[in-house]
Amino acid sequence: MQFKDIVGQRDVINRLTEIIDSGRVSHAQLLLGDERDGSLQLAWAYMQYLCCSHRVHHEQGDLRADSCGECPECKKISQLMHPDLHFVFPNPPNGSPSVSSDDYMAEFLAFLRERKALGTLDDFNRYLDRDIKTTMIRESDAANIVRTLGMKSYEGGWRMLVIWRPSKMNKEAANELLKTLEEPMPQTLILLVDDSTEELLPTIVSRVQQVRLKSEGGERKPENAEYGPLLVDWLRMLFKLKMKELASQVEKMAALGREEQKQFLTYALGVMRDCFLKSAAGLPCSLGSGDEKFDAMFPNMVTVNNIELINDALNDALFAIGRNAYGKIAFMELSFRISKALKKR
Ligand SMILES: [Zn+2]
Repeated sequence: MQFKDIVGQRDVINRLTEIIDSGRVSHAQLLLGDERDGSLQLAWAYMQYLCCSHRVHHEQGDLRADSCGECPECKKISQLMHPDLHFVFPNPPNGSPSVSSDDYMAEFLAFLRERKALGTLDDFNRYLDRDIKTTMIRESDAANIVRTLGMKSYEGGWRMLVIWRPSKMNKEAANELLKTLEEPMPQTLILLVDDSTEELLPTIVSRVQQVRLKSEGGERKPENAEYGPLLVDWLRMLFKLKMKELASQVEKMAALGREEQKQFLTYALGVMRDCFLKSAAGLPCSLGSGDEKFDAMFPNMVTVNNIELINDALNDALFAIGRNAYGKIAFMELSFRISKALKKR
């Protein structure tokens, strides 16, 4: 997971990368925001950036820095296969008194990969197909945290722990965690991810640095909604790939001002994320094309097999436009890449 894969949140990300670059990483941080706004994605990309051995810095564009995505550390974290990366999350009982997140780790990691970390706790419970009322983070999870963080790092670098939904901790687990937060260990990062501080112990909240995500909300911003018809027309062309019509469509996009082109691309990124959430998790998403058949069909074209290709293509176009690339060429190249990606669904 790279920062470029996250829709929006540029100010938050730029602040975080600046802090990481300066080496002032706070050992316990609380990322506050909805999963669909990318709070879990942010934790994932954060750890990848922290460990990346070839961080990339941009002179221009909305995103000032990102992980390289290519080095061994990036690969291990993007595949969630880094030996120093640990997760704790609310888990349902399984009849054993020592049940913990570890009993559901394979399913949790698969859930993160399949949903690109955009799924909520309800989504995860549905994914597990178990009774959602009884999921929690338990003493056994806390004991695992203490044990894991008490061991040396496998790779000699950062030890990272993500606690998803710490508000679901029972009292015993919360008290145990508190002790861990009070005694920071070197090169250890604990990321707590939740949607609010309301149900968290104040003593925990006071010991962590808060990072608040901007809420994108369920609906796209009205100032961007004006790009809806243009986007839908373009998607239709891409789907059918009619060259002559596509060329005139690209002309229309290239005729927008540079700032508008960027807004259009950002809007497209958000719509693609919503399409992906619909195809992966069945969440409602309407393209508002006025054509019910197209609205129902198109989101199915955006899947776990091509969402990254689509995001990359849109982000590259954003970057190129930010560097004053020639609009027509940038949008034509983008069209080919998206069209190719849609075929890989
Ligand atoms: Zn890297």
